[in-house]
Amino acid sequence: MQIANDTVVQFNYTLKDEQGEVMDTNEGKAPLAYLHGHDNMLEGLEKALDGKNEGDSFSVTLAPADAYGERDESLIQRVSIRHLQGAKRWEPGMVAMVHTENGPRQVVVVKVGRFMADVDLNHLLAGRTLTFDLEVVSVRAATGEELEHGHAHGEGGHQH
Ligand code: ZN
Repeated sequence: MQIANDTVVQFNYTLKDEQGEVMDTNEGKAPLAYLHGHDNMLEGLEKALDGKNEGDSFSVTLAPADAYGERDESLIQRVSIRHLQGAKRWEPGMVAMVHTENGPRQVVVVKVGRFMADVDLNHLLAGRTLTFDLEVVSVRAATGEELEHGHAHGEGGHQH
């Protein structure tokens, strides 16, 4: 079956950075599943997967604009160290959790003072050119329930 809107796709992936270093992979784990055409996936990835078939393997390189966006230097903000969660002592480069109006999010600590720290609110992968090696494991029609929920069920998808 071919990947099209309202199909459930299972796939394996390896994410590499600009130097070809592996940043993330599901190797050794179950494939991921998602419902195609319902904004469940990075747009650039969904575009690359569209029309592919079960068993296809391919690579796609996404510029920042097609992945997690360009970096925005105005998103570096000064916050009280008390608001950083996840460690007792902070050093530049560490990832902290902060609570924002939109819920908890990960930030990278840029600079640490005595009481205040500069943190980077950009997505961890903002400004990065990302290469995904993809393997389409299976493609099937979504069930009515999946379409109603807007996501895939079963292995690699939502379990509920
Ligand atoms: Zn559901």
